Amino acid sequence: MEKYKMYIGGEWVDSVSGEMREVLYPSTQEALWEVPDGVEEDVDRAVEAALKAWEPWAMLRLTRRIHYLRAALELLEDKKEEMVEIMVKEGGHPISLARWFFEGALGRLRATIEAAPGFYGETIPSTTGRFSCTIKQPIGVVGAIVPWNAPLTQAINKIAPALVTGNTMVLKPSMETPISALEIAKVFEAVELPKGVFNVVTGSGLVAGKRIVENPKVSKISFTGDTATGRDIAERAGRTLKKLTLELGGSDPLIVCEDANIDWATDAAVYGRFYHQGQICISSKRIILLERIAEEFKEKMLEKTRRLKIGDPMDPKTQIGPLINKQQTEKVHQQVKGSINMGAKLLCGGRYEKLVYEPTILGDCTMEMPCCREECFGPVAPLITVPDFDTAIEIANDTIHGLSGGIFTQDLSKAMKAITRIQSGSIHVNECSLHIDPFAPFGGVKASGMGKELGGHYAFEEYTNTKWVTINIEQASYPFLRLGDKT
Ligand code: NAD
Repeated sequence: MEKYKMYIGGEWVDSVSGEMREVLYPSTQEALWEVPDGVEEDVDRAVEAALKAWEPWAMLRLTRRIHYLRAALELLEDKKEEMVEIMVKEGGHPISLARWFFEGALGRLRATIEAAPGFYGETIPSTTGRFSCTIKQPIGVVGAIVPWNAPLTQAINKIAPALVTGNTMVLKPSMETPISALEIAKVFEAVELPKGVFNVVTGSGLVAGKRIVENPKVSKISFTGDTATGRDIAERAGRTLKKLTLELGGSDPLIVCEDANIDWATDAAVYGRFYHQGQICISSKRIILLERIAEEFKEKMLEKTRRLKIGDPMDPKTQIGPLINKQQTEKVHQQVKGSINMGAKLLCGGRYEKLVYEPTILGDCTMEMPCCREECFGPVAPLITVPDFDTAIEIANDTIHGLSGGIFTQDLSKAMKAITRIQSGSIHVNECSLHIDPFAPFGGVKASGMGKELGGHYAFEEYTNTKWVTINIEQASYPFLRLGDKT
């Protein structure tokens, strides 16, 4: 079993606790790696290193910061097969998905590097004749906390905009999937990124994660994960008034109207709900069908779902692999059973072996059922049939979440109504909710979070302070000082 250390201040170190935690391959439950179980002192050490590195890093010319990120990008490209295998083994991703995530991560890093020179302040007209402008300044030490479902891309989403704008970082990966983050640290070490600019602390959320949020020297928290965790983090971060980006859970709707192309819509639904076994924040977790096409849609989706290949994640033909762990698998099963008990009709799936949950379609679903009411992070497609378009929109919005959404229609008026009325951070017409582009801003509303990732300047705003600057050109006059002269 390979042992990793944490990366703090440019050194590979053990936790002061001396404790280690195993990382399991979800497909076989075999322990493949061990990583340190970091504690509060480890976090504090990493924050000190990041703080010490901050000013020199912030003062470095942008072209130099870009140089380091570009060198890291090139090295990551060379490590493609190694990184892909790590993602398969730590996250249970089928290998085709791991390749998609890898290309996605590199695309995001590349797009961020390219956008960086276009992010700057502006000059402002002055009512008093001064020179008036804004400059963009980094915030300081960023605490980045990421989940297990896309360990490489989630880390890059935060690292790229934070570092290029002049912040330093302490990254805490999920203990289910810490290896990708530690491999990123190896890349930064190899390109001789100044020590302390990037640090990785491995450890549990309740110990290491909590300390990152509470450490008063951390100026910004960028978190991706569950809504309940996000709420806890927002409360704690509020005590030291940290700037926050929260990318949280979703229960995204996919509406299929009467005039939709059903072949296309069912392709999108199968992809949007079952890719990565449904473990994506923007998976299409509720499929809302207009009555007239509901039967045809159901038959076609069933036929396509039955063709999905379940198997060994290392096999390039495998479409469905394991869920991340036993707790998640059991939680998904409880949600399925609970929905069936409330009247949902099991159309396919509903069973699991080890951690592999069969792609499942539930008919006759209502919003009261756990598969619709809660975020279901597994391969389960609840079909909700509605009598009319307005009801479809009401159901789409009948959730605490608001991440992404999709609608299939040829009718411009319906498309426009969905675009304006669905409460979400993004909405896609003739596409499912599972759609992301590094040039476009990404982030949710309601309990799906706050702030944006990706999209160039949208992400950079999250990691900078806009400082207003004025310069007096001539000696200023202060009428206040002459008030006493008047008789
Ligand atoms: P999680 O909230 O359990 O854990 C995420 C990270 O937070 C982990 O590193 C964990 O160790 C840490 N953590 C846990 N409790 C903490 C605490 N109290 N203080 C500080 N850190 C803590 O989420 P998960 O199960 O790893 O990920 C799945 C969830 O992430 C789903 O809800 C999914 O929708 C969401 N997600 C959202 C996005 C998005 O962009 N909106 C993207 C991916 C995943």
